Amino acid sequence: MSEENHLKDGGARVKFICLWKGSISEKLSSDDFKIYESNASQLAKSLLLQEKYGLSPVAPDGKVGGNGAIKVNLSFGACLIVSMSGKLPGSIDILKHICLVLNFNEDLWQCEYFAEQESVKPTSDTPMHYAALNLDGKIHMKAYPKAALHGHGLATSEVAEKLNIPCSPEDTLFSTREDMEALVKLIRQYPYPLNKVFIRKNHGYYLLGEDMSDCVENSLNKIILPYI
Ligand SMILES: [Zn+2]
Repeated sequence: MSEENHLKDGGARVKFICLWKGSISEKLSSDDFKIYESNASQLAKSLLLQEKYGLSPVAPDGKVGGNGAIKVNLSFGACLIVSMSGKLPGSIDILKHICLVLNFNEDLWQCEYFAEQESVKPTSDTPMHYAALNLDGKIHMKAYPKAALHGHGLATSEVAEKLNIPCSPEDTLFSTREDMEALVKLIRQYPYPLNKVFIRKNHGYYLLGEDMSDCVENSLNKIILPYI
């Protein structure tokens, strides 16, 4: 079944267990919060840019098909700042629409996270970001990316070929183990930082960068300018 039909049948976007551990503003120290604030603001700006160019198209349920992640080192360890699942188009509030993922346990297919309230869940693509940004040491790389941008706007092998971007052959339901593994396999086959842009067939494009500005630059140069 395709992800579109899965959602039409009332299936969940987020297909892993989310354990809410409290609100970002209450849980972070002031030093950690400063790091969160500056990175979350960059993420918000970049996501709006993707929306502006139609790279994160709005799904039939009115929610945006795109997200992003930044790896940050806080006083208690490495975490992932990600956009929320099922975000509506338009303005992004860094407390209401962004989550801080504390860990992702692949065996249990479960994450622990902070967000303003329990009903706000991290993006359904959290497993993919966690693996690609290498918080679990899954992929050996010469250099490690710290930021990722992803949208459902470009997702076919024809577009990948036209733009000369590596594309995975697997067609998977989003937010599943198979979906994450398909991206990991693609990055292993086309290593970062030599490659920074990828296409997951029938899912979307995936950009890695040394920081969010690098992702945006790649988005402009490798996707937006040649394609749009
Ligand atoms: Zn996605």
